[in-house]
Amino acid sequence: MRIPLIAGNWKMNNLIHQGVELVLKLRELTKGVNEVEIVVAPPFTSLYHLKFLLAGSPIKLAAQNLFWEKSGAYTGEVSAGMLKDVGCEYVIIGHSERRQYFHETEDAVNKKLLAAIGAGIKPIVCVGETLEERESGKTLEIVKFHVEKALTGKTGLAQGAIKDLTIAYEPVWAIGTGVNATPEEAEEVHNYIRELLFELFETNHAKDVRIIYGGSVKPSNIDSLMAQPNIDGALVGGACLKAEDFARIVKFQRA
Ligand code: PEP
Repeated sequence: MRIPLIAGNWKMNNLIHQGVELVLKLRELTKGVNEVEIVVAPPFTSLYHLKFLLAGSPIKLAAQNLFWEKSGAYTGEVSAGMLKDVGCEYVIIGHSERRQYFHETEDAVNKKLLAAIGAGIKPIVCVGETLEERESGKTLEIVKFHVEKALTGKTGLAQGAIKDLTIAYEPVWAIGTGVNATPEEAEEVHNYIRELLFELFETNHAKDVRIIYGGSVKPSNIDSLMAQPNIDGALVGGACLKAEDFARIVKFQRA
């Protein structure tokens, strides 16, 4: 059974006091929700403070990035162990903004994934095509490339290690644009990713991997997205910055 996962990616938004305000509201608005896993991914600067605020609450903490080495002379980087230390249960890896602005490669995504798993942090790995790739009919090819490289890469992932993995299908053209993939478009890709996982891993492990959708998710489209059999949750950007909107997404209604 896959428990739905709704994660909010704050990106580079919110000073500490703003994050505190958002999380306090969110805690209140999502009281009593226990059949959905709720995750917030604030900037690094807020993690320590929010760890204490979220203690005893079902809302979990994620980081938006990590570096794969354990420690050392890597100015500006943060390791998986440090994320664990500051209370992160999840980490987002390979977001398209990191691939675009920070030149994150497939190899880097693979190393980050392995480092996260090695430190006991659950990775949310982002994959997805650009508009140009979709328009030239390459969506499934790109997604296959991203998934295979992230999971098998140079150093393969052990069978059992995928139990804590989440894959976020995030078509790049849908991120921050207000235009989401239709539930049918998303389902086609999610179903394809599920089949890929069955090819790469044993069925009893692959069936439990959550595949969540990201790209202009909002209160008005979450219900129809979650009605699809292979959509196990959402990675939410813009709409997670408003507690009311994010709470409504968390409280999606299955059609
Ligand atoms: C994201 O950044 O992961 C995202 C899905 O953003 P938005 O919801 O704003 O499209």
